[in-house]
Amino acid sequence: ERQALNKQYSAQGSRPMDVNAVRGDFPILRQRVHGKPLAWLDNAATTQKPQSVIDAISHFYENDNSNIHRAAHTLAARATDAYESARQKVQAFIGASSVKEIVFVRGTTEGINLIAKTYGAKFLQPGDEIVLSNLEHHANIVPWQMVAKEKGAHIRVIPVNDRGEIMMEEYQKILGPRTKIVGLTQASNSLGTILPVHEMTQIAKRYGARVLIDGAQSVAHIPVNVQELGADFFVFSGHKIFGPTGIGAVYIKEELHDFVPPWQGGGNMIRNVTFEETSYSEAPAKFEAGTPNIADAVGLGAALDYVNRLGLPNIAAYEHHLLEYGTEQLLRINGLRLIGTAREKVGVLSFVLPSKRTEEIGRHLDQEGIAVRSGHHCSQPSLRRMGVETTVRPSLSIYNTCSEIDRLADAIRRIQRLPS
Ligand code: PLP
Repeated sequence: ERQALNKQYSAQGSRPMDVNAVRGDFPILRQRVHGKPLAWLDNAATTQKPQSVIDAISHFYENDNSNIHRAAHTLAARATDAYESARQKVQAFIGASSVKEIVFVRGTTEGINLIAKTYGAKFLQPGDEIVLSNLEHHANIVPWQMVAKEKGAHIRVIPVNDRGEIMMEEYQKILGPRTKIVGLTQASNSLGTILPVHEMTQIAKRYGARVLIDGAQSVAHIPVNVQELGADFFVFSGHKIFGPTGIGAVYIKEELHDFVPPWQGGGNMIRNVTFEETSYSEAPAKFEAGTPNIADAVGLGAALDYVNRLGLPNIAAYEHHLLEYGTEQLLRINGLRLIGTAREKVGVLSFVLPSKRTEEIGRHLDQEGIAVRSGHHCSQPSLRRMGVETTVRPSLSIYNTCSEIDRLADAIRRIQRLPS
């Protein structure tokens, strides 16, 4: 197996990952749960944090903690440098052309709300259309629904086939002169489908639509370059890429900065305030009112450094191997139905078993030390399209192993044998 894997790696121009060394970087994985070694297979919900991220946050609070951008003292300068250096790391990581294009937010949800409630609210007119795929997370549906309702705009949905892949011909038919915004997840959190967002963005541009890409499930798994994608907006959460919770970023293409009004008002985002009138700072400050989440931005910077050290192509190759192995093992289980069988997938293995409730399966797996998510994964329309309300969703990352997948498959077989 090792030889086959090495061959696959060299064909892809990537180098093999030392998964044991990687596991050693994540202290949380050393624990046992219900007496069994923890198998963290809930990475689509959140990823674990390497020691370097934990250390970066501690180092910030132990040495550099200060508010930023304002005071003349040494710690303020250090904290500002640390925060702005994290912004540069995000810029480089997603291939933005300028640091001004990177706005720190709490996460993907806040980022999409920011765009919907500023750009969307300003430019949508009655009868305009917002095009979303059937695979979106609720975070890329509900904010658009809210603004659509307010503005008299409509949501149009791009259908998917039985594998959970975008139906490109239908997509082209949906687009038209009323299409103002296209919102696409780059990878589905419930089915794992990787969407052809580059091609879809190019098509949307022909209609003059603005494109927002939800990168929550892609940034940790697929190399991303927002300029190559041609996206107007790109959003992701730090906690899904080994960084802390409460921090994420929105990329806003520079040429749109004058068209996106500020969102929250307060300190940091102004140039001059009188009781009569306020003038605003330039982006990104214009979108970052108040004291930001400085320490966690620093933690996110450390997480991106960590991913860069491993190399995303290496990560992608390793996870692809795990996904293939996992798919094969799960499909060997009698009666198990994989939900989402797209040809291009990230490491998500949603499934259901006949006559076993998904919640119950999740609880039994927990007893075996295996953490998975069971439920609707905040993506009800995508699951309903596949004819289910909920699934069990093991999701893979760099520290997972084939032997954890074997443990999962054995445990599922034992659960299947339990009386209903
Ligand atoms: N979009 C996708 C595709 C997701 O998977 C998630 C989280 O699961 C989100 C958006 C929302 O991310 P957050 O809860 O970090 O804001």
